[in-house]
This record gives sequence, C-alpha cells and structure tokens, in this order.
Amino acid sequence: MRNFPAVIGLGSFGTILQLRLELRNLKPRRLVTSYRKAFRLWRPAIPPGHHAFICNICGVHASAELARILERDAPSCPRCNSTLRFRAMMAALEEELLGTGKPLVRCRKRKDLDGVGLTDSGVYSHLLEEKFSYINTFFHARPYLDLMAPPAGFQSRFDFIICADVMEHIPPPIQVAFANLRTLLRPGGLLLFSVPYSRDDKTVEYFPDLHQFEILGDGAERYLVNVTRAGESQVFKNLEFHGGTGATLEMRLFCEADILRLLHESGFRQIKIHSQSLPKWGIIYDSLFSLPITALAG
Ligand SMILES: [Zn+2]
Repeated sequence: MRNFPAVIGLGSFGTILQLRLELRNLKPRRLVTSYRKAFRLWRPAIPPGHHAFICNICGVHASAELARILERDAPSCPRCNSTLRFRAMMAALEEELLGTGKPLVRCRKRKDLDGVGLTDSGVYSHLLEEKFSYINTFFHARPYLDLMAPPAGFQSRFDFIICADVMEHIPPPIQVAFANLRTLLRPGGLLLFSVPYSRDDKTVEYFPDLHQFEILGDGAERYLVNVTRAGESQVFKNLEFHGGTGATLEMRLFCEADILRLLHESGFRQIKIHSQSLPKWGIIYDSLFSLPITALAG
C-alpha cells in the first residue's frame, strides 16, 4: 500500500510525458489550415426552393431563393450583395483575362494589366482596384469619362474595359460610343460589355432625333424636351430611369443582332456571348438575352 502513491505518480508522469511527445508532433499551422478547410467545406442547410452556390466575387458559400438568383439585378449573395449580372460579368472577365477558375477575391494580383470601368458597381470595383491597375470612371464625377468624348490620355491605354449597362443611356448616334470604346483599348485588349437587350429584329430608339434636349419636372412627372436638328420641338413623357436621373435615362432597347454588328463595325473581333449557366457560381439563366458579351480589339 505504501508504494501506491509512487505508482500513481509514475503513471501521471508517463501520461504527461506521452502528452508532451504527442504535442511535439502537432503542427499549429497545420491545425489552423485544417480548421480553415473545415470552415470552407461547411455548408449551410439549403431550404426548399433555394440554390447553393459559391459567390464568384466574394468567395462565400451561400444559398438564395432560385427565383431571386434568376433575376438579373436582384442582390442574391448575402455577403457582398452581388446580383446575377455582376457574377456573370466577373465570371466572363475572369475566364477571358485570367482563366484560373477562382472567385475574384482569391485571384492573384495582376498589376501589369490596366483596366477601366464605366460607373462600375462598388460590389466588385474595389476588388478590381485591388487585383489590377484599374480605375473606375464616371460621367458626373471624377475621374471623368464621357464615352462620346473620351480624354486624349485614355487612347490605346487599357488592357480591359468594362462597359456594364451604360450604352442604353448614351444619346444617339450610338455608333460613336462603340467606336470610342475600341480606341481606349490596346490592340488585343478585352471589352467586357452588357446592356439589357432583346432578340427582336431591331433596336428601338426611344428618342431617335435627340439633338438639344433637357429633362424637366420632378419624380414621376419628369419629361424630356428636345429640339431636333431640323428645328422641330418634341416632348416625351413616361420616361424610364435606371436608379437615378439625367445620365440614367433609358434611351433605347438594343437588339442582340445590332450589338454584334456595332461591335464588329467598330473593329472588335472574337465577339462572344457568354450564355452558359454556371450553377456553382450562382449564375443560372432562364432566358438567353441581356447576357455578358466579350470582344477583343482587333
Ligand atoms: Zn458575394
């Protein structure tokens, strides 16, 4: 009995020794990596009618109502508020420019690539600024870029340009803006383009004779007054604005064929409509129009 405490003592020492030996074999960094991996592999429960996806912009594992994902401009990523259109545009950019198949947030930096955006959304523009030598420009704020009169310093300067839902707001003749897009790119530079469009035979110009015009009135009562080149006065009511005033007035509804023609006539080649759904990125189409388009400056 007198030896019992000694046996206990030896047993405890052996356990402690064994624990110390085991701890020596553990690599803290590996533990952290495994934890991160486990966190990445974790999936939230998917409610009925929802679709699980990885946001190809912020990289989060998410799920959202399928009906909401299918809406072009409805925020459906719970972390970054990306929409189907934003994810589709960034997937097309990643595919054409990098080809790594990674969410934008995890792409490596390419500061050797100069890019420019035309009023790009903050949902992805901050990541483009982080990854590329990229500037976001605006029609009403610095740094300015008016596609009808781009600054001389921008000519042949960029490896990529993002023109996302801009062209439907530019006054006619719209071919001038398409031609100017081409002049901003270096030869072989990438255009990433989107507008709402139909698959009808013709583009519908809402104000075909726009010349000297202004928008008057407030709110839903706003109207457009125009004097044509021939001196005729026109008044248009029931205007459609996209989220603001002035430059957000919808000037036309493009048709797909006219977009492809205008791009070709402006010197773009390898024009590609990105029509493939990519469910794992939360990019699912139930109609094949108003899709991202890429083209290279010929
Ligand atoms: Zn996101």
